[in-house]
Amino acid sequence: MSDIEVPARPKKARKKANPKVGIVSLGCPKALVDSERILTRLRAEGYEISDSYDGADVVIVNTCGFLNSARQESLDAIGEALAENGKVIVTGCMGGNPNEIRKAHPGVLAVTGPQQYESVVAAVHEAVPPKHDPFVDLVPPQGLRLTPRHYAYLKISEGCNNRCTFCIIPSLRGDLASRPLREVMIEAENLLKAGVKELLVISQDTSAYGVDIKYAGSQWRGRDVKAKFLDLARELGDLAADHKAWVRMHYVYPYPHVDDVLPLMAEGKVLPYLDIPFQHASPKILKAMRRPAHQEQTLERLKAWRRQVPDLTLRSTFIVGFPGETEEDFNFLLDWLDEAELDRVGCFKYEPVQGAKANELDGAVDEDEKQDRWERFMEHQRLISERRMARKVGQEIDVLIDEPAQDGDDAVGRSAADAPEIDGNVFISGDGVEALQAGEIVRVTVEAAEDYDLHATLAPKR
Ligand code: SF4
Repeated sequence: MSDIEVPARPKKARKKANPKVGIVSLGCPKALVDSERILTRLRAEGYEISDSYDGADVVIVNTCGFLNSARQESLDAIGEALAENGKVIVTGCMGGNPNEIRKAHPGVLAVTGPQQYESVVAAVHEAVPPKHDPFVDLVPPQGLRLTPRHYAYLKISEGCNNRCTFCIIPSLRGDLASRPLREVMIEAENLLKAGVKELLVISQDTSAYGVDIKYAGSQWRGRDVKAKFLDLARELGDLAADHKAWVRMHYVYPYPHVDDVLPLMAEGKVLPYLDIPFQHASPKILKAMRRPAHQEQTLERLKAWRRQVPDLTLRSTFIVGFPGETEEDFNFLLDWLDEAELDRVGCFKYEPVQGAKANELDGAVDEDEKQDRWERFMEHQRLISERRMARKVGQEIDVLIDEPAQDGDDAVGRSAADAPEIDGNVFISGDGVEALQAGEIVRVTVEAAEDYDLHATLAPKR
């Protein structure tokens, strides 16, 4: 089961035990936000959250259907929940294909698709009716979260207008649907007031925010503010600064208008960090993938960004072994990596996801070749990462503490260059480390670097 953050139970005892719901949340941060919304709704209705199969009256499995391996993991999770608890409701990306789930697990109570919060809640009502006590306020204003108290994902839109040939997300989640700016800002403010120190902005395509609603303005702090990537970044940066918190941008594409956000990074309003899923570099493969912004002068743009913001961290993911990828395309990618010198990189072997257009392309790459390219890619990037990390030794940087030091261990934190779960850590040792608390931002001196992690001591106070 996932770790679930549940606020302390109100002191006033309730007469009857409230029904309990467990949740298994699989997949990406966007799916995690869906799980949080479902739990928030259920908690508002009086349900309690169980962190074990035993203690739950019903279990929700929020599935991921992005890759075949993720589909299998989802089916296994449903099987485990059925074996351990017996009452299981399935939702999320795989819920878009109920037949596949029912074929593997006929015993599930209900199957609902992604973002069908109403249907999930209705299925829970049917399985275990609510016992709402209107005199007890069960939900804090920031909702319920599955992340630690000091960071939170902020989802600014659903769906996607792009049609990348390897991806089935638009068919599962629909076209881009942006949230009004005011709604996003109110959620951000509630999170910050509740002690969140890092807002992680997510969506399928963050740089496309507002396109679908024609950048409609809404009232925020007495002004009409447009639902635009730049305006959102500026407002979030200002709000976070009031709370001494960080804002980190994920899933941004290198469109020209992203240039406008760089000054906010140079000023320190938004973290100098961009997560840009490039997926490949060869123009032929990018065209076959139908990637957004694939015709932009990407390398020139990255170099210009770094001139403007020298400590900018660039993170990306890539796919090797896409249909039609030749040795020449692959070597082009490796050469491109040398030029781009990205800081953080993930790599996947192409998987023919059921329903993806790319499966119809010629030139499937065999599995051994994919594995070989993946290993060469990872080693190539490891050396780049090692070089970039070594430059940080001796620097003073800010670190957000994730885990306090315990029993003589180091405290563990992250710098502006490290998003939670996917990037590296900063291990802090030495004098004063025992006093550090999760959620605190401290200044450290980098003493040593590994391929992905840093080791540091607390910097002298000035
Ligand atoms: S940008 Fe492409 S890969 Fe990302 S969700 Fe949209 S279609 Fe899928």
